[in-house]
Amino acid sequence: MTTPQAPARHAEVAGAGFAGLTVSTALAQRGWSVRLHEQNDSVRDFGAGIVMWRNAMLSLEVIGVAQSVREHGVRPDYYETFLNGASVSREVPGYPYWAITRPKLHSLLAEAARAAGAEIVTDSRAVGADPVGALLLADGSRLEADLVIGADGAGSAVRNSLGDLTQERKKYSDGVCRVLIPRPEEFRGERWNRVLDYWTLEPDAMRVLYHPMGPGMLYIAFMAETRNERASRIPVDVEVWSDRFPHLTPIIELAGKAEGGRHDNYQTNRVTPWSAGRAVLVGDSAHAMCPALGQGAGVGIVNGVDLAHALDQHQTVAEALAVWERRERQMTDDVQSRSAYMAETRNMAKGNNWTPRLLETANFVSAAVPPALEELYPVPEANRSW
Ligand SMILES: Cc1cc2nc3c(=O)[nH]c(=O)nc-3n(C[C@H](O)[C@H](O)[C@H](O)COP(=O)(O)OP(=O)(O)OC[C@H]3O[C@@H](n4cnc5c(N)ncnc54)[C@H](O)[C@@H]3O)c2cc1C
Repeated sequence: MTTPQAPARHAEVAGAGFAGLTVSTALAQRGWSVRLHEQNDSVRDFGAGIVMWRNAMLSLEVIGVAQSVREHGVRPDYYETFLNGASVSREVPGYPYWAITRPKLHSLLAEAARAAGAEIVTDSRAVGADPVGALLLADGSRLEADLVIGADGAGSAVRNSLGDLTQERKKYSDGVCRVLIPRPEEFRGERWNRVLDYWTLEPDAMRVLYHPMGPGMLYIAFMAETRNERASRIPVDVEVWSDRFPHLTPIIELAGKAEGGRHDNYQTNRVTPWSAGRAVLVGDSAHAMCPALGQGAGVGIVNGVDLAHALDQHQTVAEALAVWERRERQMTDDVQSRSAYMAETRNMAKGNNWTPRLLETANFVSAAVPPALEELYPVPEANRSW
C-alpha cells in the first residue's frame, strides 16, 4: 500500500494507445511516477469511431474521463440489424453505452495522463523488457522500473521479448475498412441517432455499419472477407460497395472520399500468463480480439484501471499481478472467445445478437469501481446478465 512517506514507485510503459494511456493515468493518479514511450512522433489515433460499453465507462469514471466521453460522444437510441435489406432486430434501447471518435477518446486520455503527471515521450520505441524490471529501447537504453508495462498493441515487442509467455494466435477470414465522414444533412437529427448494421451474406459476406459519433460525424465500417480484395481497400471502393448496398450510395460516396481511415484483419491472441516478473502486458498486447462485440479497447481500459488498483491494494508487485490476473482473466478470455464465435459464425447478421450472455462483459464491473458509480449507469432489465 502506498503511504505518504513511501518513495513513489516508478513505471516505464511502452505504447501510448488506449491501454497505455489509461494505465499510465491510473498509476500516476495513485502516486506512481510514470514514463510512457510512444514509437510515433506524436500521440494520436486514426480516423474511426469506437464504442465504450458500460464496463469501460465505469473504469473511465474512476480516472475522471467518462464525463468528457459523454459530452463529446453519442449514446445511441438503439441498435438495428438488417439482413438483405429487412430489419431483423432492434436492440439495447436504454443501454448505457457511448460512441465517440477514436481521435477524441485518445486525446481525452492523453490529456488525463499528462494532467495526472505522466511523462509522455514520443519517437521512443521499445524493443523488449527485462523481467527483473527494465524497459529496453531501440536506442539501446535500459530504463529500470518497479514495473514495466507492455501496452504496445497486438504486435507487442515487449510481449515477444518475454520468452516465458505462451501465445495462441488466430487470424480470421474477415477484415474491416473504417472511416469517419461528416454527417450529411439528411442523416442529422434525433431520428438518425441509432446504430444501423446492414448485412448481406451472398455471394459472400459484406456488411456496412452506420454509427453516429456526434452531431456532425458518422463512423462507417465496411466488413468483408479479406479475399474480396476490392472490398478490403482503403480508400473505400465506392463501386463495389454501392453495387451491394445501392440504398446506401450517398454515404458510401462520402466514405470513398474520407482520409485517414484504415483496413484491419480480424485476429485473436491469447497470452498466458500476462506477466513475467516485473513486466506485465495490458491491452491488445495481452488479449487482441475480434471486434465483433466492440470490447477490445474497453477490456484494455478495464484491466489497466484495475491493475493500478491492485498495485495499491497489495504490498508487492508480484502479489498484485497475481491477484489482478485472477480477477480479470476469466472475463477477458470469455469475451475473446465470444467475439471469435460471433466473427466465425457471422451470427450478428441474424439479429438478436445482444443477449444478456453476450453483454456479460459489457456488464462487468471491475474491483476498482466504487459501488456508488454503478448507479450512474443503470442497465435495463432486459440486458442484465445477472
Ligand atoms: C474493426 C475494429 C473495430 C473496433 N471497435 C472497437 C470498439 O468499438 N470498442 C472497443 O472497445 N474496441 C474496439 N476495437 C478494438 C480496439 O481498437 C483495440 O482493442 C485497441 O485499439 C487496443 O488498444 P491498445 O492501446 O492495447 O493498442 P493500440 O491501439 O494498438 O496502441 C498501441 C500503441 O503502442 C504504440 N507502439 C506499438 N509498438 C510500440 C513499441 N515497440 N514501442 C513504443 N510504442 C509502440 C503504437 O504506436 C500505439 O500508439 C476495434 C478493433 C477493430 C479492428
